[in-house]
Amino acid sequence: MRGSADRHGPMADEAMLDLALEGADIAPLLMVLVHLTGERQWLEEVGPHIHGPWNFQQSVPADIQQRVRARMRAVLRDLATGVAPLPAEPPPELLREMLSAGVGGAVPDEYIPMILEEMNLGDRDPKTVHWRTSPDAATLAKFRTVIVGAGVSGLAMAIKLQEAGIPFVLYEKNGTVGGTWLENSYPGCGVDTPNHFYSLSFEPNHDWPDHFSKRDELWQYLERLADQYDIRRHIHFATEVTAARYDEAQALWRITTRDASGRQETIEANALITAVGQLNRPAIPDFPGLADFTGPKFHTARWDHSVSLTGKTVAMIGTGASGMQVGPSIASDVAHLTIFQRSAHWAVHNANYHRSVGAGKMAALKLIPFYDKWYRFQLLWASSDGLHASLHVDPDWQMPDRSLNATNQAFRDQLIDYIREQVNGDEDLLRKVVPPYPPYGKRMLRDNHWYRMLTRDNVDLVTDAIERIAPDGVMTKAGTFWPADVLVLATGFDAQRMLAPMHIVGRGGQTIRELWGDDNPRACLGITVPRFPNLFMLYGPGTNLAHGGSAIYHSECQIRYIMQCLRELLETGAKSMEVRQDPHDRFNDHLDATHAKMVWAHRGVGNWYKNRHGRVVTNSPFRLVDYRAMTERLDRSEYVMV
Ligand code: NAP
Repeated sequence: MRGSADRHGPMADEAMLDLALEGADIAPLLMVLVHLTGERQWLEEVGPHIHGPWNFQQSVPADIQQRVRARMRAVLRDLATGVAPLPAEPPPELLREMLSAGVGGAVPDEYIPMILEEMNLGDRDPKTVHWRTSPDAATLAKFRTVIVGAGVSGLAMAIKLQEAGIPFVLYEKNGTVGGTWLENSYPGCGVDTPNHFYSLSFEPNHDWPDHFSKRDELWQYLERLADQYDIRRHIHFATEVTAARYDEAQALWRITTRDASGRQETIEANALITAVGQLNRPAIPDFPGLADFTGPKFHTARWDHSVSLTGKTVAMIGTGASGMQVGPSIASDVAHLTIFQRSAHWAVHNANYHRSVGAGKMAALKLIPFYDKWYRFQLLWASSDGLHASLHVDPDWQMPDRSLNATNQAFRDQLIDYIREQVNGDEDLLRKVVPPYPPYGKRMLRDNHWYRMLTRDNVDLVTDAIERIAPDGVMTKAGTFWPADVLVLATGFDAQRMLAPMHIVGRGGQTIRELWGDDNPRACLGITVPRFPNLFMLYGPGTNLAHGGSAIYHSECQIRYIMQCLRELLETGAKSMEVRQDPHDRFNDHLDATHAKMVWAHRGVGNWYKNRHGRVVTNSPFRLVDYRAMTERLDRSEYVMV
């Protein structure tokens, strides 16, 4: 699984190297060549042919590609014979030129530290927080940390605590690790972020079979992590944290757990870290008659694999990211699929979405030194902050309902052209599936052959509102009855009621629900909350990424911040740290003010990001580079340390 281990291994045989060189994408390969040789003339020769971080492959003339691969071949031979040592990081000036040439556009200096961290060119994770003065063994041994949730962020947190020697236990409500990638097993389930970026920066996986891998691969990646780092021995599986109460006098959290047999236990912890995700509790709409439906019915995150859909009439409610993956995956099996769409979602085409990685690129990732790192950089750049500026409202824009600004309108036009082509010019269907609101108002989906699927004879897209669920189908308000043997609820999650159903009581007896209500969570940096000392959240309020990037990137930023908090406690001997009200409010004011000018608060769109008062509570409005800067260093003055 590790990148750095592979590259120091014995050089592969000639045939494998040829395969790797042929399979490598030209832009990251060019970066490797310049990195290994310092031959910057290649940037001048190849760089002008690279226009943007996606789909550059064809634009570099074949003869130039050939020469890059041939030169690379010779360099690899020298490396194999030990003639040339592996250089470390390129010198700053060259690095700057490389970054911009590699993605066909200027990469501002403010991104360089973030990129270097993500690429992780050395053998040690640059985000690791080191002790300044190591606490003594007795202090460390007494300190107790509880993590709630063994999904990707909980596991990553556990790995970092273990690395620092900070004791912890982890409670997981499910029978094994994986979180969202365990619970969601619906047909077609997979990731929408390129996988070689959607993975821990310090644990790359060179075996992803697809550019956007499916659920089983993602889940297995997390299972392997748990084994590789020997984390399972710290986990209480099938055990839910039901409550946590802060004892101010002792500066301890008393945490109540309930195992599968119903047995309750209360344990004490100095620090409580929640890693429960935002998309963890299915939202089941309150349709009249739902309970009386006689056939199988299930939510996408609770897929019932014992039910065969072959030859059945299936009704699916919801057309978000989950529905968009389910529909095309079952349409050819079922007798009929009726899809109920309350509002249309935008979906974009990506050429790699359905492509496997292939043996050549996989070999390149494993065998060509630093190729995996430069490939990650390219994906990071392609799928993170590039679009951010275009998601701001232009106050003078003449079509504010449909788009935000000229760039957003141009993107809208492109998307509509694509959809029109996919639905074979069917203008009636086009009217149903083109959203009235600006692109990115809801999560931008990846077209999973969705539009093509809608043209099938056995698929109907119903846009009339649902009146009720009948025992054998769905009745719309327009009075049409749609029969169904099976009902699939692709209706999303209860995202805004964060940390529910845990009953969390902070200082002075205040509960998190009293503070946040049902749908108005706030935290400083999405991590800490006044009156809740020593409580730290991963993927908390205002941290979901919807402009781009990877949720894992944000988790790693939060983990670094939390590790600094724990270091502060352990090194200073303070018992508790509580974020002051001022920095908390300043952060949230900044967050709200930024959101007010961005797409997710758009009045014409309903999404799971906004609460019932229109406040965007789940998402970060910030660029990745900004959030990194905000979380890179703990400002101790923002905390009351006792
Ligand atoms: P979602 O985006 O919230 O979509 C829920 C769907 O159900 C929407 O179409 C919604 O309609 C509809 N719906 C909800 N209540 C309804 C009601 N009472 N009547 C009719 N329709 C109703 O949920 P999701 O698809 O599970 O996705 C949630 C998030 O999970 C995504 O945004 C993404 O962050 C993550 N996810 C990611 C992937 C991936 O990476 N590929 C896959 C799945 C999920 P409206 O649009 O009108 O509200």
